[in-house]
Amino acid sequence: MDYLNSLEVPLQLDIWTFAAPGGKAAILVPEKNVERFQDQLSSYGIPFRIDVENIRPLLEEEDRLMNEAKVRGSKRNGGSKIGFDRIYNLTEVYGYLEDIANNYPDLVTLVNAGHSFEGRDVKYLKISTTNFEDKKKPVVVVQSLLHAREWVTLPPSLYAIEKLVVNVTDKDLIDKIDWIIFPIANPDGYEFTHTEVRFWRKNRATGYTPGDVCVGVDLNRNFDIFWGYHSTDNVCAETFHGSGPFSEPEARIVAGILHKYTSRIELFIDLHSTGSMIIYGWGTGDLPPNALRMHAAAIQMTAAIDAVKAPWNPNYTVGNVALIMYKASGITMDYGKKLGIPYSYIYELPRHRNSVGLDRFLVDPAFVYQAAIETWEGIKEGARYVRDRLNEY
Ligand SMILES: [Zn+2]
Repeated sequence: MDYLNSLEVPLQLDIWTFAAPGGKAAILVPEKNVERFQDQLSSYGIPFRIDVENIRPLLEEEDRLMNEAKVRGSKRNGGSKIGFDRIYNLTEVYGYLEDIANNYPDLVTLVNAGHSFEGRDVKYLKISTTNFEDKKKPVVVVQSLLHAREWVTLPPSLYAIEKLVVNVTDKDLIDKIDWIIFPIANPDGYEFTHTEVRFWRKNRATGYTPGDVCVGVDLNRNFDIFWGYHSTDNVCAETFHGSGPFSEPEARIVAGILHKYTSRIELFIDLHSTGSMIIYGWGTGDLPPNALRMHAAAIQMTAAIDAVKAPWNPNYTVGNVALIMYKASGITMDYGKKLGIPYSYIYELPRHRNSVGLDRFLVDPAFVYQAAIETWEGIKEGARYVRDRLNEY
């Protein structure tokens, strides 16, 4: 594993999945370095196979399907409203958040929390029947797109808004709980995945290398918790942790939300992809005191998802991040835990077409609605779990 990771920078590898005991790595290799990479692996006795010869046709296929869905959508509803038929871009999502806030002023507050590195607004919604003034109500926070390329995480956030505001079928969820929904935590990166590089993960911070040969900080390594232990100071790497804890405005904004409501946040869910997992801290592999409870709650959430999941996807698994994925430091989930949030999780949503290869971040428009409804079942279950155990922790 260490040897493989050491090749990341010299061979300009894009490591999609880090190798783990019993688990394969998935790596995007620039064409010019393919031969060298294979030689290095062979000389070290690391078995490998080429999963996709050329990623480009897969990207073009996603574009084509999204565009078709867009044309169908605009025929149906004039293109004005957001749906669960495709992935919507930053402008469309922000327009939707504004509409929701304008149409439901008694229930929804749109917060402009500050600016991203490139100066974009960073916006989230507060949903509350009591304007967040009832201090006894627990707060549930749902965040998505901290990692820009993980498009499949957006529909569940938007669906949460639909189910809490527009099409309410579970009134207990808003009567007894206040919600913060933060659909695009990394707006610069997200915009960049639509306009330039589909598989961009980090934010778009510059100034870290002369001439900005490499840019961007992995926001999920930039938080002030175990910062720098299991991440890298190499700017070119996907897990570059920044110049220090909270060097990045986007990470400071997320932390600001968590600080503001620390005493009331019972559940924090950071949506990521991929792998069909619900994971908890710590990223070092040590377990927090309530690990057993977090595990139990996660099992209930995964059961709720599995009951309605797409039949071709595997069941969700549950565990500590370092034990079932890899060690990681400076992550948002752990920072929430550090602040004292009892239940703090990452969801890893299902892989695209069950692929373990490089194309697993792509999104089939036909899966968008399914991703939304199945993930919502987990979020709902978690929200009720913490609400019903408020005085037990
Ligand atoms: Zn992620």
